[in-house]
Amino acid sequence: PNEAVDDPVETAQQVLPVLVDMPFHGALDSTLSYLGPALPPGSLVRAPLGHREVLGLVWDAPSDDLVAPGQTLRALLGTLDPLPPLPLAWRRLVRFAASYYQRSLGEMALSVLPPELRKLDPASLTRRLRRKGGLGSAPAPTDAPQTAARPEPTEDQAQALAQLAALQAREPGGTALLLGVTGSGKTEVYLRRAEEALAQGRQVLVLVPEINLTPQLEARLRDRFPGRLLVTQHSGLTPAQRLRHWLAAHLGQADLVLGTRMAVFSPLPRLGLIVVDEEHDASYKQQEGARYSARDLAVYRGRLEGVPVLLGSATPSLESWRHAQQGRYALVPMRQRVGQGALPQVRLVDMTQQPQAPRGQEPPPLAAPVLAALRERLERGEQSLLFLNRRGFAPVLHCPACQWKSDCPHCSAWRVFHKLDRTLRCHHCGFSDRVPRACPSCGNPDIQPVGRGTERLEEQIGQWLPGVRVARIDADSTRLKGTLEQQLSAVHAGEVDILVGTQMVTKGHDFRRITLVVAVNPDGALFTTDFRGPERLFATLMQAGGRAGRDAEAAARSELWIQTWNPAHALFQSLRRHDYESFAAAQLAEREMAGLPPYSHLALLRVEARTPEAAQDFLALARRDAMAWVEAQAAEVTVYPPVPPYLARVAGLERRQMLLESGSRPALQALLRDWLPGLRGLRAQTPGVARWALDVDPLGI
Ligand code: ADP
Ligand code: ZN
Ligand code: ZN
Repeated sequence: PNEAVDDPVETAQQVLPVLVDMPFHGALDSTLSYLGPALPPGSLVRAPLGHREVLGLVWDAPSDDLVAPGQTLRALLGTLDPLPPLPLAWRRLVRFAASYYQRSLGEMALSVLPPELRKLDPASLTRRLRRKGGLGSAPAPTDAPQTAARPEPTEDQAQALAQLAALQAREPGGTALLLGVTGSGKTEVYLRRAEEALAQGRQVLVLVPEINLTPQLEARLRDRFPGRLLVTQHSGLTPAQRLRHWLAAHLGQADLVLGTRMAVFSPLPRLGLIVVDEEHDASYKQQEGARYSARDLAVYRGRLEGVPVLLGSATPSLESWRHAQQGRYALVPMRQRVGQGALPQVRLVDMTQQPQAPRGQEPPPLAAPVLAALRERLERGEQSLLFLNRRGFAPVLHCPACQWKSDCPHCSAWRVFHKLDRTLRCHHCGFSDRVPRACPSCGNPDIQPVGRGTERLEEQIGQWLPGVRVARIDADSTRLKGTLEQQLSAVHAGEVDILVGTQMVTKGHDFRRITLVVAVNPDGALFTTDFRGPERLFATLMQAGGRAGRDAEAAARSELWIQTWNPAHALFQSLRRHDYESFAAAQLAEREMAGLPPYSHLALLRVEARTPEAAQDFLALARRDAMAWVEAQAAEVTVYPPVPPYLARVAGLERRQMLLESGSRPALQALLRDWLPGLRGLRAQTPGVARWALDVDPLGI
């Protein structure tokens, strides 16, 4: 009944429910009503909104009346009707995401469509689509064979593939957790599964955490499936590219879609497999606007469309791990590295046993045995990686005479000393100025850097090991487009002896010549206020260690050295044995005792205000309402008192937050649904509030 037909009677104007990009309009799931031709749900249209013309999406009719009595409706301005409507499965995914993450349907739906769609006028689209091939410069499929030669599966892989095939037969939309260290052959399993889906005429969706990891997987997918059309979805594409690739997915032309978290919303009419690589990675969580977890949505989408979901990691999130323990996800372990590759030997350097620095001097950044290990690599012509998760020269400048410190006037944070451009820079608000020649408070010319970042480590390495070729990779050294690629290729070409880097270098990169990885100062993450600190540290160190020993010949002498003041810590003991499972068991026991995820569900209400009082007042009112609801419903939800977060002031705004916690996801969801509309009213009562946001399943608390 909803099909558009040429019959003039049928094209009479109708009332259509339409979503536009507005954060709030009445209820979160409300639509606007327009007059237009009979269009099926999922059709993209151009709609008048105030004095503007905006992109709209015809939605499934709501149950209530579309037009209030006496209301005059505006007519749609046009349709993008050469485009097939967004399919029902896509609309259901968006509906779920909006309701679960408490965003308006319009905001959720429109924010996950390529922005360039807004510019398209219907006529140019009709040209574009009718043209043969349709997509301009989207990479075209070739006559190459559809699948290139591939290795025989190892025993682990054969077993994993059999297990996955059995799972799919039993439960087509089920989720499997592939647990395997780097080099255990997980990617090869993804490729085999993809091959199968492609052979059945289905599309494959592959998610990766970050864009700088897409090129490697992209190359492997292209090599393996030369005759297939692969498109990407990530923030590195131009808007026009992103639209072209999106259209190729939506029109069913692309066989493979590879992308970051946004790609989970790609419309795929023939979807047959979803892969989420490094499923534990925090990048899968969108941290602003419509906050969502692409990993969790992938699992939901698989179930919705009856399509298998494959989550892969060496260090799964504790949420996924617990699902696997409970049998909700199938656990597929791969315990061996492929071929001769061995995991690097882990050595703990007990920093409490190192000689003390003379009074008033800072201890050297690397212990003597670590320096010796570096020299050994230099002599053998091998590379080393020094991992230090702090950029800049020193995290703070200090005046020993008057105790002045380089704080940021706008934030509750220190400004970081960047020696290369002689600036003091706040990493939170961006405030930056030149380093003072003398203490701004007392005039003492002898102000001192305290602590150490990657710039300083790079400089010191140059002093101790003269002539050594050092490269530094962090957010500062790679700011210009193309510089990361240049630096990585210098490392690959053997033009670098020692690589100093932040978290950026620990992920994914396949460094063939690195045989030594040193975690210079990882202890901080053991004692953060964030309960996920240890989980993240374990994952990061396993991943950093995975950069060593990727070359089979060098694997036997590959090492991960960890400088720590807490060598007896259980985390390091598990790490020494590469034993994720014992680490996860210990963490889960702690989480259960403390009633933390995955044993409970959290939502966090964050507010930023011009004064601490305004922030506090808003949350106090919000808490009063939430507690009234909890009491009335006799629901098991705990509403904690508002607290300042770790950074209580950023860019001149005061931050406060309030945590809601429940053992029951439905109870928490019910509270959020009833409570949220009232928060908009509360904001009007507390004028000092600049913004507030609700984060469901927050990652950092
Ligand atoms: P992971 O994704 O777990 O890090 P990969 O799939 O990348 O592991 O495999 C690690 C290395 O082993 C790669 O160089 C890959 O080409 C190789 N490899 C994987 N499976 C096989 C196999 N069955 N036979 C031979 N080499 C393989
Ligand atoms: Zn001073
Ligand atoms: Zn600042």
